[in-house]
Amino acid sequence: MGNARTVLVTGGARGIGRGIAQSFLEAGHAVMIADLALGPGGDGDSEWTYELASRSEMARTVEELAPLGDIRGTSLDVTDSASCEATVAATVDAFGRLDVLVNNAGVVDSGPLDTFSEARWDKIFDVNVKGVFLMTRAAAASLRASDDAAIVNTASIAGKRGAPSMAAYCGSKWAVVGITQSFALELAGDGIRVNALCPGMVGTAMWSDHLMANASNESFEQRMRDIIPLGRPQTVEDMGQAAVFLATAPNVSGIALNVAGGFEMR
Ligand code: NAD
Repeated sequence: MGNARTVLVTGGARGIGRGIAQSFLEAGHAVMIADLALGPGGDGDSEWTYELASRSEMARTVEELAPLGDIRGTSLDVTDSASCEATVAATVDAFGRLDVLVNNAGVVDSGPLDTFSEARWDKIFDVNVKGVFLMTRAAAASLRASDDAAIVNTASIAGKRGAPSMAAYCGSKWAVVGITQSFALELAGDGIRVNALCPGMVGTAMWSDHLMANASNESFEQRMRDIIPLGRPQTVEDMGQAAVFLATAPNVSGIALNVAGGFEMR
């Protein structure tokens, strides 16, 4: 790729966000990863059904990816507008600019309609939907100052197709696709491209600690072999490659790209 750019990846301490950070570093860009940084010495509290990223997880990712290029980490809660603004400021302080925002932070939960709590519904929409708005609003001025700006929102194939017991999560990801199209139109005049990435099934904490918490690793692989046309789960590297494409393709905006082995085609 041409010019080195500065990329901010939310939810970048692990999983898909970490894969995206790695791909941007390998393509020669500078990366700030921003995540909750929970636990000793960290900020905030994790009241969720599975553990979200710890401070030490983020420090480890920065350390392990540092040989690839310029990477730093900062703590962020995407549901808090002041925290979003501080994260953008920290990125511009560290690198002098911000060219690409990757809104990747997200949480999952599932459960039947009759017992799904209002608090879980609200939390999913706070992180997955409002978080995209707050981060994008915080980053808009810096992105407008860039001559080559892009936003990539991690939606999901759950943003293309509903699933039983997944109304909150699917609804939140459909919202991300709609927000992507709206911002793509609104920011086009500023030259900012806005696209969504729709991962299929990637074996991260969302699967191991929630969606298949009671099943073995092997059964995840087996299940994916059975249901995905290409016969394998997707990887964080697949997502990184797609995110770099979406952020750097000069004439692509407003799309929601499935990276799902043929599982979802719309
Ligand atoms: P993950 O749990 O490993 O990563 C999500 C990250 O978001 C975590 O590091 C977590 O700490 C962070 N996060 C959560 N709440 C936050 C907040 N309030 N502020 C800042 N950071 C916060 O899971 P993942 O699979 O890597 O998920 C990354 C994204 O990909 C999510 O948006 C998810 O919905 C989406 N996705 C995942 C899959 C999959 O199969 N794993 C499929 C489709 C979409």
